[in-house]
Amino acid sequence: MDLTSIQTINYIRNKYGFHMRKGLGQNFLQDAAALDNIIQAASLTPDSGTLEIGPGIGVLTARLAEASKKTVTIEIDTNLLEVLDETLAPYENIKIINADVMKVDLAALIAEEFSDCASVSIAANLPYYITTPILTRLLEDPALHVNDIVVMVQKEVAQRLCARPKTKSYSALSVLVAYHSVPEIVTVVPASSFVPPPKVDSAVVKLAMRTTPPIQPLSEKAFFKTVRAAFGQRRKTLINALCGSNLYSLSKEEMKTLITSLGFPETVRGEELGLQEFCVLSDALINSFK
Ligand code: SAM
Repeated sequence: MDLTSIQTINYIRNKYGFHMRKGLGQNFLQDAAALDNIIQAASLTPDSGTLEIGPGIGVLTARLAEASKKTVTIEIDTNLLEVLDETLAPYENIKIINADVMKVDLAALIAEEFSDCASVSIAANLPYYITTPILTRLLEDPALHVNDIVVMVQKEVAQRLCARPKTKSYSALSVLVAYHSVPEIVTVVPASSFVPPPKVDSAVVKLAMRTTPPIQPLSEKAFFKTVRAAFGQRRKTLINALCGSNLYSLSKEEMKTLITSLGFPETVRGEELGLQEFCVLSDALINSFK
């Protein structure tokens, strides 16, 4: 069964009376080249395991199962279960879990399901309504121990994930990504590659996970609080953004003295700081939290 063909998608719609739900981000991929790109980007081997989020009708799931030892996929929509029973019937190395990915203990699932796999990758064409919460969870969970995360996301989100300092797309999410991984845009995928087509183009992003972060702040929690505060009011200077966050006990004058003593100009904005500079800033502010 060619799961990328519109004929197959229409056959499934008719046979199961299946309606795609916009609210669940159900834009199904029908682009074989984009699938090839996802498979090549993820480091899959006959010994590796893959966790997928949101199989839809199984178009990516089947390819992941062909390229790895075992694939576990989490789908929230109960209506897709009988569809997947048919489309993924040829594969004995796929396990389907009917759940909301945000409610699953992913570290426990990975430890349990992939104990006999040499490495684990996460791959997904993510539902757009929940992309950032899912990625934040995947990145922030220290117990996941995955090799890489290869995801299809909206193009603008892909640019934010991979953004460098001093660019329009650079955000607190870019810092979180750079702290935990080495990100890369693999390919841009036009809206016409999906059924139904979303309003915007998409991109495949690979996050090669780091085993240790490139910086060692005194406190990781304080570091990310400071990063979020710095980006909280984007158009303001760093001094005003940090003071406006209400997180710190310093007056504006004291904040100015601290920032300039670190060698930053008074007018510096959060978006100009890279990982190392945020680390210096966060360490200097460590005793100034309210
Ligand atoms: N992988 C398929 C493909 O590439 O065609 C489908 C991708 S579609 C963009 C997103 C999928 O995620 C849908 O199947 C949707 O039902 C599922 N989904 C949405 N929210 C979810 C959640 N919270 N937990 C698990 N799956 C979810």
